[in-house]
Amino acid sequence: MTLTAPKLAAPTWDHRAAIAIYGTPAGQGAISFLGKGRGARHTNEKTLKPWRQAIVLATRDTTGCHGYTDWNGICLTCRTPKPDHGLYANIPTAVDITVTVPKPKSAPKRKRSWPITRASSDIDHHARACLDALAESGLIRDDSQVVELATRKVYPSEHPEALTEPGALIRVYTLAGAPQ
Ligand SMILES: [Zn+2]
Repeated sequence: MTLTAPKLAAPTWDHRAAIAIYGTPAGQGAISFLGKGRGARHTNEKTLKPWRQAIVLATRDTTGCHGYTDWNGICLTCRTPKPDHGLYANIPTAVDITVTVPKPKSAPKRKRSWPITRASSDIDHHARACLDALAESGLIRDDSQVVELATRKVYPSEHPEALTEPGALIRVYTLAGAPQ
């Protein structure tokens, strides 16, 4: 196998928003089925729901976006049709997520350490919860428009992108030169 020289350079991105969310991060994980006709729910619904709600509210407060409220196929608030709805709808998007999880009391206090325990949740489950909430907030139309994703998991104040207490910092970028 030979590698050929790339025909196109890596894209450049416009930084659109830095959204700080405070709360206890919850990963979007397993779904349990409640039985025939009774639907399904996330096994960690009690922690996931308030976390996702915190992301949605912080995203709306930071960017001024709003959620889609259907009225015969258009948004009741802005009259945009559903397929085009979202502040950065249908634009190639990159997302950089830093999840700050609580540092356990057993961890060394003055020394940097990393959240590698089961209790800190899987990094892809954290990303899933954040991307779903970004779509629900009305910032993007759907998470399928995210073409680049970076996620890291850290303890408070132990990384340049970490918050001083549990939560997340989500940076959103759109493709440079993309129409608004
Ligand atoms: Zn709208």
